[in-house]
Amino acid sequence: MPCYRCGARQTDPVRGASPWQRGVRNESQVLICPDCQRLHDHDLDACSTCGSRALICRLGEVECRSCGAVRMARSDALTVSVPPPPGLSAEVEAALNRVLGRA
Ligand SMILES: [Zn+2]
Ligand SMILES: [Zn+2]
Repeated sequence: MPCYRCGARQTDPVRGASPWQRGVRNESQVLICPDCQRLHDHDLDACSTCGSRALICRLGEVECRSCGAVRMARSDALTVSVPPPPGLSAEVEAALNRVLGRA
């Protein structure tokens, strides 16, 4: 995953923990490269309980790594990533084939 801000690609840390920062922005997990961490205009989501920005987003939930509070991600953000129901594309394809006389 590249830096959300400048698009830089994460390089493997030579040793120890990655200097890249994880955060949640607009209900989705983002990575911030070391360069962009020096800028302080990040638009990251903050924990509603303790105000920390050390959040992780997973499976439709946003968890605070500072105080452990978990909240649901906004449903409108969730619907974006929900795939179409299985079988729909096959039905559409079959309908198209009928229309085009290929069935
Ligand atoms: Zn960056
Ligand atoms: Zn918190």
